[in-house]
Amino acid sequence: MRRYVIAGNWKMNKTVAEATETAAELRRLVSQVRDCDIIIAPTYTALWPVAQKLSDSNISVCAQEIHFEKSGAFTGAISADMVKEAGCVYTLVGHSERRQIFGETLATSRQRMQAAFDAGLTPILCIGETLEEREAGRTMQVVGEQLDAAIEGFDLATLENMIVAYEPVWAIGTGKVATPQQAQEVHAGIRERLRYVGQDLAAGMRLLYGGSVKPANAQELMSQADIDGVLVGGASLKADSFADIVKARS
Ligand code: PEP
Repeated sequence: MRRYVIAGNWKMNKTVAEATETAAELRRLVSQVRDCDIIIAPTYTALWPVAQKLSDSNISVCAQEIHFEKSGAFTGAISADMVKEAGCVYTLVGHSERRQIFGETLATSRQRMQAAFDAGLTPILCIGETLEEREAGRTMQVVGEQLDAAIEGFDLATLENMIVAYEPVWAIGTGKVATPQQAQEVHAGIRERLRYVGQDLAAGMRLLYGGSVKPANAQELMSQADIDGVLVGGASLKADSFADIVKARS
């Protein structure tokens, strides 16, 4: 059985005061939940204070991005070891906003996977197609290329410690959610592709859906055979709506 994952990406929102307040409220609202992994990804400045607020709780902290080098002359960047020290257990890799706005490439997402694994962080690899790519019938090709590039060369034992989030770019922040059937179809395709790497790896890999997930659509998405949780942007900013999504898993 794959354990559900409910992850919230706060993006560039919330001051430290706001982030710690939301974290404390979320902690209270989901304190009884034991059967899924709950994750939030605050901004860098809020990582440490939020991790402190959540210590000894059932909620883990995730970085939104890491640089692939360990240290050095990379102004504005932050390393895997640094976010680990700040309390992170996970890091996003390859979020579409990083790919589209900040020039993340197939090669650098692979480097960030390496940096995450080296630091003992669990990467949540985000992959997904644009609307043009979907309309051109290229969804599985694009998603497959992003997946293959990110996992290339790692051994099976290493890859067991990662999560994949399928996030169609056209559904992120747009209010246009993929139908459960559209999402399931791509998730099944991703799992199929992972079978070429390893049968057990494919069977055990948690595959999250992301893109305009709300309390109202979360349950149907998560009831699909190959959807093992959700990565939530906008609806994770309020503790009560994120808690409702946590409680919506099957
Ligand atoms: C995201 O940023 O990963 C995301 C899925 O955002 P939203 O839920 O707002 O579409």
